[in-house]
Amino acid sequence: MKNKKIIAGNWKMHKSLDEGIAFARKVTKLLLNVESTKVIFCPPFTALFGMMEELTVSSFGLGAQNCHWEESGAFTGEISCTMLKELGVRYVITGHSERRHIFGETDKWINNKNRAILSHDMIPIFCLGETFEQRKSGDTESVLADQLESGLNGIEVLGETIIAYEPVWAIGTGLNADSRQIESAHETIRLKIKELYSIKESENISILYGGSVNESNAKALISSKGVDGFLIGGASLKEKSFYDIIDINEQMNKE
Ligand code: PEP
Repeated sequence: MKNKKIIAGNWKMHKSLDEGIAFARKVTKLLLNVESTKVIFCPPFTALFGMMEELTVSSFGLGAQNCHWEESGAFTGEISCTMLKELGVRYVITGHSERRHIFGETDKWINNKNRAILSHDMIPIFCLGETFEQRKSGDTESVLADQLESGLNGIEVLGETIIAYEPVWAIGTGLNADSRQIESAHETIRLKIKELYSIKESENISILYGGSVNESNAKALISSKGVDGFLIGGASLKEKSFYDIIDINEQMNKE
């Protein structure tokens, strides 16, 4: 997996089924010859099945934005990993700051989800990041280490787990973290993975950056040390922006 950068689009609560299919059709046609990028689409639940039928090339993957950790039961509104897997879903976003802050998800729930996803042979895209206040008070490193440790509690084998460093203050604000801040955060995450697992796992794990990535800043950000790709919100909703960002990565790998 590490030989390719990963570019994942988190559509949040945007796009109907028809819009999602039309988007996937256009983008995947433009990207048929993609070589250096694994492209992951994370539409709302309602578009997962329809979009799976569009993503027939192995460079494209399908991700869900959430799951429940139980197999079945009285959990109104929830969807299990088995249900997602049945639709062809391979990735699931966990720990996103909107889930943490708007829906009150705890580290324990996030850990339950990560465990369930891995035990179903799927891949968590596990998000973590500090708030503006935590950065200001110098707590970024400890926040990242704590979120990582609790989110991975009890997980012995990371498999292909993907980490997304997403500073809360950079999500949807137009204010991206700079290369220095990203490199330092990714280094902190890698060191913690080394402590919890091994050097090999710390080197192998893919760490994405997310937070106001667009076609203008993508080149500088993807060149930052330790950045293995992006998790993109706003810019993943626009065909041209999403395509341009992927193309920037493709061109850089040809240089
Ligand atoms: C996100 O929601 O994961 C995200 C990174 O959003 P945006 O790209 O809009 O900042």
